[in-house]
Amino acid sequence: MRLATLLGPDGPVAVRVEGDSGVVIPEVSLLDLIDLGAEGLALAARASGPRVALEPERWLAPIPLPRRNIVCLGLNYADLAAESARARGRPVSLPEVPLFFTKATHTVNGPYAPIPFDASVSSDIDWEAELAVVIGRRGKNIARAESRDYIFGYAVLNDVSARDLQTAHGQFFKGKSLDGACPLGPWIVTADELPDPLHLPIRCRVNGVVKQESNTDQLIFDVPAIVEWLSRGLTLDPGDIIATGTPGGVGFARTPPEFLKPGDVVETEIEGIGMLRNPVVATGESIARPGA
Ligand code: MG
Repeated sequence: MRLATLLGPDGPVAVRVEGDSGVVIPEVSLLDLIDLGAEGLALAARASGPRVALEPERWLAPIPLPRRNIVCLGLNYADLAAESARARGRPVSLPEVPLFFTKATHTVNGPYAPIPFDASVSSDIDWEAELAVVIGRRGKNIARAESRDYIFGYAVLNDVSARDLQTAHGQFFKGKSLDGACPLGPWIVTADELPDPLHLPIRCRVNGVVKQESNTDQLIFDVPAIVEWLSRGLTLDPGDIIATGTPGGVGFARTPPEFLKPGDVVETEIEGIGMLRNPVVATGESIARPGA
């Protein structure tokens, strides 16, 4: 199933996407459905509520406000690790264990919603196409072989990154956590419909020009390994979102570096899941620099 969250006449509704419309799953959010486990999947499958049209302005992220931060992996494709090291003048080294960081919950943004741009906060806004994993069941110390039992489904995610903030603040969190910096969706493809998420073409286009082009088979730590490493001594909960890392081709590592600007359109696509299409839009705000 493809499960999404759309803005209905009375607020957000969970839907099962069928063809060019969504069948409303009454009285539950998509997060509620995930919490319900197998019962939630059955409820979604048999829902026969009213249909809503899939107009772009109706789409929200499948989980519009997660309960806790999105867990992300850094340097999880070898080509990205190499180009990042080159761009920062450091020797190339591949991680021996996954590099984890998080994005704040208010980064989550709709699959077709604007990516906010405020030059007074950051002018080095970059793209990162990623496979997102949505956890479906509480677990800790999950063995690789059992990892599939804990996954609800998969989505496309753009780990939008403010590179100047990432550098200035000496840690990933702030540069990764601006509001709206995590377009997600367009839906969650349930795990039963995507038995092999590890051989999917993944790409990012800016204004129709391909910037990233890879395959999820290039992940250094694949999805079972990520779940195993992350859950060691750390409880994962239903609805947790894991961004699995991005391939090479990001803006800051290009010569010369390239960043997004108002008017740009970013398309983030994983074959077999779907595509996000987000315009970059100036907020018109101007935030005074603290201490200035
Ligand atoms: Mg990333």
